[in-house]
Amino acid sequence: MSCAAGKITGVYRPRQPLESDFHRLVREQFNDFQAVYDRCYARKFGFWRPVIARTVNEFLRCGDLREGFARVRCPDCRHEFFVAFSCKQRCICPSCHQKRALLLGIHIAEDVCEPVAHRQFVWTIPKRLRVFFRFHRHLLHRLPNLAWKTIREVYRAVLERDDLVPGGIITIQTFGQLIHFHPHLHGLVTDGAFTTDGQFIRLPRLDDELFLQLWEQRVFQLLLDEGKIEPKLVDQMRGWRHSGFSVNRNVRLEGADQAAIQRLAQYMARCPFSLARLIRITDTGKVLYRGEKTHCHRFPEAASEDLFGGVSRNFQVFEPLDFLAELTQHIPNKSEHLIRYYGWYSNKTRGTRARAVASAGEAVAAAPPAALPSPTAAGARRRWAALIKRVYQTDPLRCPRCGGKMRIISFIEAHQEQVIERILRHCGLWSEPPPRAPPRPALVLVPSNRVAEPGLDLDPEFLEHQRWEQIELAFEA
Ligand SMILES: [Zn+2]
Ligand SMILES: [Zn+2]
Repeated sequence: MSCAAGKITGVYRPRQPLESDFHRLVREQFNDFQAVYDRCYARKFGFWRPVIARTVNEFLRCGDLREGFARVRCPDCRHEFFVAFSCKQRCICPSCHQKRALLLGIHIAEDVCEPVAHRQFVWTIPKRLRVFFRFHRHLLHRLPNLAWKTIREVYRAVLERDDLVPGGIITIQTFGQLIHFHPHLHGLVTDGAFTTDGQFIRLPRLDDELFLQLWEQRVFQLLLDEGKIEPKLVDQMRGWRHSGFSVNRNVRLEGADQAAIQRLAQYMARCPFSLARLIRITDTGKVLYRGEKTHCHRFPEAASEDLFGGVSRNFQVFEPLDFLAELTQHIPNKSEHLIRYYGWYSNKTRGTRARAVASAGEAVAAAPPAALPSPTAAGARRRWAALIKRVYQTDPLRCPRCGGKMRIISFIEAHQEQVIERILRHCGLWSEPPPRAPPRPALVLVPSNRVAEPGLDLDPEFLEHQRWEQIELAFEA
């Protein structure tokens, strides 16, 4: 195979994740945090969850060449570089979480949403009831279903048809602006519903009160059924002037505004904290963190003062271990899905439509793209790989020197410590590991889904399952 002509405009440069203040904080304080957790934090944050240590340990190795790497070589010009592994952890690794949110935003805007009007929904629950969702995370995962049922019920009643299906994507966010516990839901929901043959019927102007009453009733019922609260409390809370429940649906997005849908989807799937808002870590390790500016029109839940944990300022100074406690409570358990697709947008419905479209043949292929969702496994993988290239504007297959198609020639695994050190020293990439790194449990040393096959080509399926970090390489002009 000959190289395509390619201009050399720069060199690849790995990012330096270990040099961030945040990485240092976690690296240096996490052991202490874990050691005192039961004594100092279990009462407020619940039992220690092993997933926290697993996730944090993975994060601490993210993008670190000393933890192993893939050697990538161009068969044409012999150019070669190393690619570190990424951790792919949610809610703790800003880099990996951010990538996930970006990709998801594009996927939702382009593959899931139909070109019809949508509304952003935000559902909140009173402070008094939040504690139950902190200690019983399974209840948290009942909330999106409840919210969805209220939508379907109101839409069908208002449009006076029982067969109509709205489309919606609902995400669970457990955090407020200052990373305190504030469980609430975000929704991206069609502003109308579909008939079985795909015709869209717009919703008339509606009062949010309809949604609010049902939402309040359903959440109370859930907690009553689960024996978490007594009917007396419900009566009492119903008497409050501000119930603390809210449903906001003020933001409307036009069907053609794919960019707005993408931004909103990314916001809905964002990381609980942002490095940009972590202003400073003092010499004594205190963490200064600020909230977003309250631009309520775009993000309605920011209007609720509660989002700042009941404090009137929009920043917070944390003791280092307190910061870790607030932060790690948002790490989901492994099986927890924070994003749900409903109705017209559910995987099942989209799959059925995709199959119908495929069997209808070429005549339908000329239809607008939104009518052609492709949630089949192979299609989704190809699409995902294409998205990665687009979002990061880098093609990991493409040789930066000659434009040829590169191949992974080998994997150097974390346990090959001496080999790693020798190679990195030889290439001038070695640095001593930072002090006080936490002890690493054996079970995270060799991630299970790592593929180690010399000469393996980068096909889309492999890209999907890869753990190496082609997108950590910033292209330096
Ligand atoms: Zn990561
Ligand atoms: Zn080359």
